[in-house]
Amino acid sequence: MTSVKKPETYDAIVIGSGMTGGWAAKELTEKGLKVLVLEAGRPIVPEQDYVEHVPIHEMKFRGMTDRKEQLKTQAVQRMCYACDEWAQKFFVNDLENPYTTDPGKPFAWIRGRQVGGKSIMWARQSYRWSDLDFEANLQDSHGADWPIRYADIAPWYDYVEEFAGITGQEEGLSQLPDGKFLPPMEMNCAEIAVKDAVARRFGRERVVTMGRAAILTRTHNGRAACHYCGPCHRGCITRSYFSSVNATLPVAEKTGRMTLRPYSVVHSLIFDSQTRRVSGVRVIDGQTHQALEFSGRVILLCASTLESTRILLNSATPEFSNGLANSSGALGKNLMDHIMGGGADGIIPGFTDRKQFGNRPNGIYVPRFKNVSKQEKGFLRGYGYQGSAVREDWTRGIDETGFGVSLKNLLRHGGPWKMTFHGFGECLPRPENFVEIDKERVDAWGVPVLKIHCEWSDNEKALLDDMAIEAAEMLAAAGAREIRPYRQNNPPGLTIHEMGTARMGRDPKSSVLNAYNQAHDVKNLFLTDGACMASSSCVNPSLTYMALTARACDYAVTQMKKGAL
Ligand SMILES: Cc1cc2nc3c(=O)[nH]c(=O)nc-3n(C[C@H](O)[C@H](O)[C@H](O)COP(=O)(O)OP(=O)(O)OC[C@H]3O[C@@H](n4cnc5c(N)ncnc54)[C@H](O)[C@@H]3O)c2cc1C
Ligand code: SF4
Repeated sequence: MTSVKKPETYDAIVIGSGMTGGWAAKELTEKGLKVLVLEAGRPIVPEQDYVEHVPIHEMKFRGMTDRKEQLKTQAVQRMCYACDEWAQKFFVNDLENPYTTDPGKPFAWIRGRQVGGKSIMWARQSYRWSDLDFEANLQDSHGADWPIRYADIAPWYDYVEEFAGITGQEEGLSQLPDGKFLPPMEMNCAEIAVKDAVARRFGRERVVTMGRAAILTRTHNGRAACHYCGPCHRGCITRSYFSSVNATLPVAEKTGRMTLRPYSVVHSLIFDSQTRRVSGVRVIDGQTHQALEFSGRVILLCASTLESTRILLNSATPEFSNGLANSSGALGKNLMDHIMGGGADGIIPGFTDRKQFGNRPNGIYVPRFKNVSKQEKGFLRGYGYQGSAVREDWTRGIDETGFGVSLKNLLRHGGPWKMTFHGFGECLPRPENFVEIDKERVDAWGVPVLKIHCEWSDNEKALLDDMAIEAAEMLAAAGAREIRPYRQNNPPGLTIHEMGTARMGRDPKSSVLNAYNQAHDVKNLFLTDGACMASSSCVNPSLTYMALTARACDYAVTQMKKGAL
């Protein structure tokens, strides 16, 4: 297909407008660059698109979704808890966006394709990594050593936290560094009881703290405090949680230096073999399917972990026959996701005269306590728990109670308090988990799709077992009854923390990116989303992506000003 070359050359082209693309747009425009943001999906107008306050009786399927239709068009996306009747429009159509896997090795690739990407639906849990994470690969020889340490990124955590607004409680733990927090949300009475009991039994070794989340507990940077309505994955008209639509893109827009182009599906990058730089981007218009080309001095890939890697693999040239910037051969390899779903729940006695008010959009967190000060037996690395205590509602006994007076009583009175600890564990970087281009398939815009090869190793499975055992032990320490340990069998991908496939590293022979997210092979190419990660930690990754993006932008602009780029 002949493509139409657009005449203008931008200082920078950012690919993707989600969590990381929004940050890149803000940072680069604020530093004076003229920036083109290419976004594959549609525009988002909060006043029309956000649906967090739409009541269930106004939904056509009363919150149950059109299951027949969804099974057809969102067979993968519907596995995500947030892909409900309200929010399903923020998740991709799986028929238009296919990918392939090996038989018996499912990978649940959950995606958002609109301005804002997955930053609209994310659960906002925001934790810093520590040197326990940045040194892990070096210590146990899995994966390549990170080219940075906590001290390199700490000022950038400060920077992104101060802008985004992170609620949290300081704890002084080395494995989960404190941040620049807004006031913490409150624990409820049952959570406080569990926290105190765990502290009595385990001291400072196991800490139940309030979840750290990108939600405002007071007015911050012109955005309103959260009013605890609850279903944040459907949008937030008061812009109380951080997303690119709510926070970073409006700042970039205000500079007057951002051109945001929705419906721009990036096919591949254009490599100039004379200068050994990328000169531009090949785009398929999402609506007309017209082929277009845009030029830029610097290109930032922020299309999300696997989409950015797919773009590089689809940008192969005679010099880089296995994918652009891939002289190392590391591109596509070492895919990771957190293993989740080991845990336990139990009934906390008492407090039946207390109720919860509002819908707190956050829970508690138990930072990693295994393999922290010394390596224990059983598995490498560790896990943390998210969780909460809630009063059981009327659904608790509906099957037995039937109808009549007993049903009415059930509806009127809350049940006992149920506490849950749900584990999230670190995944080892392993070259056997990799992606490549599937030469047989293209998506709805004619772009070759990914084939994903991924499965959990014995180490992740051992973490899952331990999560269930230790969660039950903490509940027992809290005097819980009816303790129910569980171990779910979730496929990789479903935690939606997919990471790796274009790792950072010191050695250009074994890594794709340097310490500033700059491609070793192509100096004006940066990649700042989760593809850059050399290991996975056990904490939610997006805050780290934000900090790395802001840091990379600062470096890129400094280099441009010096004339080095
Ligand atoms: C339900 C849910 C809960 C989550 N909870 C948490 C949490 O609590 N904490 C946490 O840290 N993380 C969480 N995450 C993960 C978090 O959302 C992602 O880590 C984060 O959004 C990744 O940022 P990104 O910029 O890499 O990708 P995205 O935010 O997905 O943005 C990528 C953008 O690039 C666009 N794009 C893709 N391909 C192309 C192309 N070829 N051309 C042009 N544009 C393209 C997409 O349309 C999209 O807008 C959650 C995710 C979901 C869905
Ligand atoms: S709970 Fe708070 S952050 Fe979530 S949508 Fe409501 S106001 Fe926004």
